[in-house]
Amino acid sequence: MAPRKLAAGNWKMNGTLAALAEIDRLLADQPAPGCDVLVCPPATLIHALTARASGRIDVGGQDCHANASGAHTGDISAAQLLDAGASHVILGHSERRADHGETDAQVRAKAEAAHKAGLVAVICVGETEAQRDAGQTLNLIASQLAGSIPEGATAANTVIAYEPVWAIGTGRTPTTDQIAEVHALMRDRLSARFADGAEMALLYGGSVKPGNAAEIFSIAHVNGALVGGASLKASDFGPIVAAL
Ligand code: PEP
Repeated sequence: MAPRKLAAGNWKMNGTLAALAEIDRLLADQPAPGCDVLVCPPATLIHALTARASGRIDVGGQDCHANASGAHTGDISAAQLLDAGASHVILGHSERRADHGETDAQVRAKAEAAHKAGLVAVICVGETEAQRDAGQTLNLIASQLAGSIPEGATAANTVIAYEPVWAIGTGRTPTTDQIAEVHALMRDRLSARFADGAEMALLYGGSVKPGNAAEIFSIAHVNGALVGGASLKASDFGPIVAAL
């Protein structure tokens, strides 16, 4: 089976209840999208967004704790995300790896917790500009994949997002050849390690916009996008969804 196509939006730390009007616009503009659509708002909006989306788009968290419950002030468990209405959770985003020092081992533990709770883990990998300039991109991505994805991953419970750190929020994107090279490597590694690795959805993320989405989606083994800034407005995210 071919991987499912997914357009995923990461709202990061943006948005209050008023921002859900964008979901109404997105749903009005996209009555029957040709792909799965996921929006990951701040945790405060998951419950309200789930109600607003009435099953037409999936809702996800942006992180979860590796433990099921306990004394972890300010954190949120995978089961709590599920309870609020989430079906997915983004894990190992480069901003969390940078801001909170998250390691591959921690991302892997969080993904195990997400799977145990019944959430789809959207696991992010990506090189910094210095790592790319040093020619380390492919080794780094292979090592992040090996370290961040738990053994129990399947095409049903795991999505991988390749997000070059230097392309996030910068307006810069890799060349199509650079994206193709990394996605081919990811497909090889996942197919070698997991029985259904050929069916895992592989997203590209980093300055995806209406103007470059179609070209990016035409690259082999790109099954969708993880979109930050351009997911905040239906007028930007809608055309990206339509391009997939
Ligand atoms: C992201 O944060 O995952 C992202 C890809 O951001 P942007 O689309 O704004 O580059």
